[in-house]
Amino acid sequence: MGSVQIVTTILAAAITAVAVWLAVRAVMKMVAVIRLGQPAPERFTDKATRTKTMLAETAGHTRMLRWSVVGAAHWFVMVGFIVLSLLVLEAYFEVVSAKGGLPLIGGLTIYGLVTELIAVLGVVGILVLIAIRVRNRPTRPGGRSRFTGSTMWQGYFVEAVVLAVLIMGFVIRGFKVATDHFEYPAWATPVSHAVGALLPNWEAGVSIAAFIKIAISMTWLIVIALNVTMGVAWHRFLAFFNIFFKRDPGEKGSGLGALRPMMSEGKPLDFEEADPEKDQFGVAQVEQFTWKGLLDFSTCTECGRCQSQCPAWNTGKPLSPKLLVLSLRDHAYAKAPYLLAGGGKDLTGEEKATAAQLAHLDVLALAEGDKPLIGTAEEGGIIDPDVLWSCTTCGACVEQCPVDIEHVDHIVDMRRYQVLIESSFPSEAGVMLRNLENKGNPWGAPPNTREDWTKGLDFEVPRVGEVDDFEYLFWVGCAGAFEDRAKKTTRAVATLLNEAGVSFAILGEGETCSGDPARRIGNEFVFQMLAQQNVETLNEAFEGREKAKRKIVATCPHCFNTLGNEYGQLGGEFEVVHHTQLLAHLVSTGKLTPVQPVDGGVTYHDPCYLGRHNRVFAAPREVLGDAIQGEITEMPRNSERSFCCGAGGARMWMEEKIGKRINVDRVEEAMSTGAKTVAVGCPFCSTMLNDGVNGKGAGEQVEVVDVASVLLRSVKPDTTPGEKETEPVAG
Ligand code: SF4
Ligand code: SF4
Repeated sequence: MGSVQIVTTILAAAITAVAVWLAVRAVMKMVAVIRLGQPAPERFTDKATRTKTMLAETAGHTRMLRWSVVGAAHWFVMVGFIVLSLLVLEAYFEVVSAKGGLPLIGGLTIYGLVTELIAVLGVVGILVLIAIRVRNRPTRPGGRSRFTGSTMWQGYFVEAVVLAVLIMGFVIRGFKVATDHFEYPAWATPVSHAVGALLPNWEAGVSIAAFIKIAISMTWLIVIALNVTMGVAWHRFLAFFNIFFKRDPGEKGSGLGALRPMMSEGKPLDFEEADPEKDQFGVAQVEQFTWKGLLDFSTCTECGRCQSQCPAWNTGKPLSPKLLVLSLRDHAYAKAPYLLAGGGKDLTGEEKATAAQLAHLDVLALAEGDKPLIGTAEEGGIIDPDVLWSCTTCGACVEQCPVDIEHVDHIVDMRRYQVLIESSFPSEAGVMLRNLENKGNPWGAPPNTREDWTKGLDFEVPRVGEVDDFEYLFWVGCAGAFEDRAKKTTRAVATLLNEAGVSFAILGEGETCSGDPARRIGNEFVFQMLAQQNVETLNEAFEGREKAKRKIVATCPHCFNTLGNEYGQLGGEFEVVHHTQLLAHLVSTGKLTPVQPVDGGVTYHDPCYLGRHNRVFAAPREVLGDAIQGEITEMPRNSERSFCCGAGGARMWMEEKIGKRINVDRVEEAMSTGAKTVAVGCPFCSTMLNDGVNGKGAGEQVEVVDVASVLLRSVKPDTTPGEKETEPVAG
């Protein structure tokens, strides 16, 4: 060993020792912070599915590849990172001697070939990612960037390190070629040989280059160890765990559909026994999220995909799902020393720690412990109320997140505390909640008018109990029963079912609100009250039937989602279909025959709770395709990437005071297609888009109408003489 090798070996050992020590300390700190969260025993079920999903999403990049160029580039960088870690290990042998190499596999041609190939693709991949980051930098002129609010230096630093480490790999190999210590043939390692042709025959060059590679890698480790909130780097390790522990590992739309029930101590809360002094009602402190919540916050890569799709952010509201996650992450880590010292508030708001426990605590950590989780900037709050209440629970963030962060559950958990304990929510929504409690519907309409929509139909609509048997229970929903435009959809569906000979029955006055708006605003108490009542009614209606025969058809995607996905949490198991699914089936089986094509061009707006939350994308398009006997014109943002109408998450009953109106943004997109008909599959989307069209004074040119009405026009052209559905909302 020459003097150069002695120096490089000592330096490499020293920097590695420091880096590893700091990294171990950082991992312990991170684990300690995540363990501060509440229990979530349900995350340990079905480990086989979890493992399969985790491998598919990481090795296969199934979520990332939706953003094809970025996904492919990231895949090469990820594989490069894993495989080329071997080359960093190899550098420790090369730092000692120019002849050094990995034991066992070092020297095998296949190893030389694979590492060469992956290194080349890794360089290309990282250059693509750097170019994308630069092109989308927040400071670029014009447009909103998905990186706005991301810690840009961290992204550039990580990418520069990856590039430098890959390049140094070729330099090491080049020196080995030049000094005749390289075992691999030129056909397997052409880039290394090309680099070698440019370098001098200098043995010390191998060790110096190997040391530089180690020094860059260990500097990276030191920097990330000193920055435990550096998700852009840590996600390389945390993403595997975050994906493994996701809510519904077998489901495509995990973190969507059903909301996570309100939990305390890892168990769903039953309001008949719940006590706010003993049980946790939602989330008021960051440590009241589960450990999986804290893992979510730690894993965020700051990529901003969620932000780029969020309807609130895109219309100038203060909510960005990314910034919300980053605020919670930074707060959790800043507050952690106080919590780990025994600090924190109990459920009555009393400090848990003694003065002695907090005596030597950093003042910043103490101050962080005092900050309210929800509060304005003046109050020192972590999440501004305007951020919390801007969310439509559309799920675009959850859908897009490459590491499966569950934003909607976290947002609703924070809302739950605000509503149930603080009674703090946009005041205009109070009327809706009172109406739900007193009248069982958000409009406060008299329950005995629930069947008024049946008046004037030329056939009888039977009630459950009046008929011996029925195949489908037609769940009308509050909008379908009380809101003028939605009533037309209800009538259209009933007419089509009758035409197709489907036996169905309604609950009539026995039906009450599904509870969706109460649950999404955070009022779990009212939700459970309504849901339990409905579950009892439905269980009675289906008494004696197995689950497959407890069939419900619903026109409202919110009811469809709640009945199908959430009533199971309260003992109600039903087979629920959306009316577009049933209609598609009836057309495909010849029970309904479209005869007259609907003309003028049709575009389709995917309701969030039908599409993203429940993956029903094809059925409404099939129905429309049959009705117009052609192809619909898609909006730029459609299917999984559809843009919300602005009504979900109980936003329907809140004023939209900040930024551009979401429904106007969506209507402009719909109108840009040139289609005369904007088809919808949800009464709330119908209201919002109709309001948007009317607000633009385009009611004469564009019609917003439900898929069922479009089909009815084609099946029975005489019964619906081009009725426009553009009058103002009732109630
Ligand atoms: S659910 Fe929709 S509105 Fe809410 S944060 Fe996510 S993308 Fe934004
Ligand atoms: S998409 Fe996920 S990882 Fe990316 S910024 Fe949003 S929350 Fe973070």
